[in-house]
Amino acid sequence: MDFSFSAEDREFQREVRAWLDESWPAAARERRARSALARVSKAEQVRWQQKLAERGWAAPNWPVEHGGAGFTATQNYIFDLEMARAGAPRVLPFGITMVAPVIMKFGTEEQKQRFLPDILHSRVWWCQGYSEPGSGSDLASLRMKAEDKGDHYLVNGVKTWTTLAQHADWIFCLVRTSTEERRQLGISFLLIDMQSPGVTVKPIITLDQPVEGFQEINTVYFEDVEVPKANRLGEAGRGWTCAKYLLEFERGNAYSPALKQSLAGLEALAAAEPSGYAASRTGLAASENAGNAPLIDDEAFVTQLRDLEVQVLAMEFVELRILGALSAGQNVGPESSMLKTRGTELQQAVAELALELCGYYGFPLDQSTPLSEDLGPGFGPTHANGAAQAHFNTRKVSIYAGSNEIQRNIMAKLVLGL
Ligand SMILES: Cc1cc2nc3c(=O)[nH]c(=O)nc-3n(C[C@H](O)[C@H](O)[C@H](O)COP(=O)(O)OP(=O)(O)OC[C@H]3O[C@@H](n4cnc5c(N)ncnc54)[C@H](O)[C@@H]3O)c2cc1C
Repeated sequence: MDFSFSAEDREFQREVRAWLDESWPAAARERRARSALARVSKAEQVRWQQKLAERGWAAPNWPVEHGGAGFTATQNYIFDLEMARAGAPRVLPFGITMVAPVIMKFGTEEQKQRFLPDILHSRVWWCQGYSEPGSGSDLASLRMKAEDKGDHYLVNGVKTWTTLAQHADWIFCLVRTSTEERRQLGISFLLIDMQSPGVTVKPIITLDQPVEGFQEINTVYFEDVEVPKANRLGEAGRGWTCAKYLLEFERGNAYSPALKQSLAGLEALAAAEPSGYAASRTGLAASENAGNAPLIDDEAFVTQLRDLEVQVLAMEFVELRILGALSAGQNVGPESSMLKTRGTELQQAVAELALELCGYYGFPLDQSTPLSEDLGPGFGPTHANGAAQAHFNTRKVSIYAGSNEIQRNIMAKLVLGL
């Protein structure tokens, strides 16, 4: 199989690279390359998203008629590759990648006009209200109730693990509108304004949260919230179909572009370090005098690095093979479960190696300790700032969007026929 890009695709790659070199500020690029903790603020993300929108690239997965880039599968992959190379923030998924395709497929014309432009231009932020306490993997057991009150629903219940709900203007929710024998048939898909009376957001504090401003997840409470029926997507009781459609997009990412970039970053750090602190303290150092040599000269470290590179390369080949199938008009199917499982395992392995590279400077810090240049004078080398937090943060990737155990069940059933 030929994995090389066509001449047009290579031209497209040059165009994307040139635009990113010009548009994504060098200072931000440098900051993100140096510290794992350098996440972007909401304001920075919005500015970036709007810049992409001006270029017509804010929504790579949308058709042109709705203002999307209309990229082919290959162009989408190349775009991801170049965004990762530049260290530019990924398009935030909840609006553009998740709810928008569902609005396009199941929404009325009025709903499309109302919601899509604000998503495209990052004027309105969304979050995902699927999981509830006690309803995660077994999502169809969800209990958040939406009672039919004529022109509106009265919503009561709790959603949890809701990523970035504290910044969101709207939430898309799976709610129970009836109790059918087949649980899936009683579920509807509602779009809820977070400013509605009766909605309360409370933070969940996690291990990766060393300082304020880095909190990611929340519990959202709904108490007698009135939601107009005009905010329901699709028919009542058919929300499960919308939910499954959305999950295809949630799991449809390519992992290798960002992984390759992270490994290249680790290699550059290991080569640059005088390593008075790193190699001698990582526990990886193979030789007595490793402390005076760059870590890249350390056999044990390099073995781990190259091993991961090989695994990422294998991942890339699988992604390119799937890309070939997509370009030929086929669907991804259960292979998305394979990609999600391997991709997230590798994300965790890379974060772990990055932490090892820091030696004891990677020790997690408490809330009162300044962490990076942005936050005050640092402690240890810059790349160690936030390495532990990044390591903790990647624990989530094998859990959300359907845990890896659930993905293995899917593969066993659909690929192996068990
Ligand atoms: C950081 C983070 C962010 C998240 N963001 C969001 C969000 O924005 N919106 C949202 O709706 N949800 C979000 N989630 C929730 C996520 O989708 C759920 O955590 C996930 O579906 C697992 O559900 P659970 O936590 O209830 O665990 P459970 O379903 O209780 O599972 C517990 C354990 O049992 C295993 N298990 C369960 N059933 C089976 C089975 N049949 N076979 C084998 N093993 C099984 C699971 O793999 C897991 O290891 C987020 C989660 C995290 C950690």
